[in-house]
Amino acid sequence: MTLMSEAETPRTEQGRREWLPEVARRRETEILEGAKGRPPRWFEDRIETLVFRNRAIHEDECVNLNPATNAMDPMAENLMAAGLGTRAALGYPGLKYEMGVEALEEIEVLAEAVACRVFSARYVELRVGSGTLANAYAYLATCKPGDRVISPPASIAGHINHHTEGLAGLLGLEVHEAPVDTEHYTVDIDAVASLADRIRPKLITVGGSLNLLPHPVKEIRAIADQVGAKVLFDAAHVCGLVAGGAWPNPLAEGADIMTMSTSKSLGGPPSGLVFTNDSSLAQRMDAIAYPGLTAHFEPSKTAALAISLLDWLDYGSAYATEMISTACALTDALDSKDIPLFLTSEGPTSSHQFAIQAARWGGGQATALRLRQANILTSPIGLPDGEELSGLRVGTPEIVRWGMTAPDMGQLADLLARALDGVPEDIAADVTGFRRQFRDLQFIRRQQPKVGLI
Ligand SMILES: *Cc1c(COP(=O)(O)O)cnc(C)c1O
Repeated sequence: MTLMSEAETPRTEQGRREWLPEVARRRETEILEGAKGRPPRWFEDRIETLVFRNRAIHEDECVNLNPATNAMDPMAENLMAAGLGTRAALGYPGLKYEMGVEALEEIEVLAEAVACRVFSARYVELRVGSGTLANAYAYLATCKPGDRVISPPASIAGHINHHTEGLAGLLGLEVHEAPVDTEHYTVDIDAVASLADRIRPKLITVGGSLNLLPHPVKEIRAIADQVGAKVLFDAAHVCGLVAGGAWPNPLAEGADIMTMSTSKSLGGPPSGLVFTNDSSLAQRMDAIAYPGLTAHFEPSKTAALAISLLDWLDYGSAYATEMISTACALTDALDSKDIPLFLTSEGPTSSHQFAIQAARWGGGQATALRLRQANILTSPIGLPDGEELSGLRVGTPEIVRWGMTAPDMGQLADLLARALDGVPEDIAADVTGFRRQFRDLQFIRRQQPKVGLI
């Protein structure tokens, strides 16, 4: 067989996404210019280099205070490359469309059992690609296009998928933003009650990308019952605290559905889960999974998830408690350095995450970019002050996983304060020096070397 020579290969010029914002277009162009005319071998080398570069950023150089990411149990990570992922297994266990998937269907059923045990739930749907797609299951199981829903607004960290510009809008839902209780950084119960009474929603969602105090799930349940709505608790971020028993279990408090990302505080593979105690909702979600939204559903992630969740059975309580106490120690230390924290009526937080008021450094996004120069990773977040993304979100899932605890927070607060008020590049080496003291993952059942560990 002869390969077509370069000259003979018909080439279509790659289109540029003219609709991207200027900064994104420039970045994309810069990458594409670097790759222009390169042979396949260059792409291979470059991608391999970038994989190691990414590992160095996250596991060597930087302190990651973004609560939306985490490090995975190395055994789970290894299982993602164990040859499961390409095997399709459509349908019910024992009734699969494909042959030779007995092992996969057993992994699937065992993973479901572990997930239900960790979250004290009757049913779980795990054929779900992400936290956003988990909410697609919840919306599709409870609403039709044109139905009204009440969602948390961005000012209390409602997620884009709750809103008209995101998934809820894409599915044709009419989104009404919940009025806000600033003091508790959650929805205002009385105002939600009158809104619900007026618009008769099919679904009320609570839970967001920053959770400072437990949400009033019982009260929302009572309101939903008055108007015939279902309650969705979006536990994308607090799922780890729920799994560790350090946060109220939303299903026990009356939520019909609980969704989550599995790669944030849970520290599992990038995926999603949907839980319910209601068998008719579970049946609907089963049909949404198959034959609805999935055919092949990624068994490698399912195996990795099962292993990650087993860690929670053994260490969940310790990990969740440590995340909270470390967050509290960091808020205390930052407060003593006059870093302005967003305060609820109960203080900066009772969870594993909190917000810095970032106006002093140009808002959340500018502050996150500034801290990146100091090798500290964070992200912007909405606060109820009217300005878009005026907060900087800080969380402890990853630093605690790497072994940082409350006594280390004085030093970290010092680095943060110097990066915020000084020249961030000048602090970067000190941050890396601090980061390098924490090399072993905690709260995992079996220590295993990471493949390709730097
Ligand atoms: C992160 C997040 C999601 C989406 O999760 P992905 O797994 O990233 O799709 C959904 N809801 C909330 C509140 C989140 O913060």
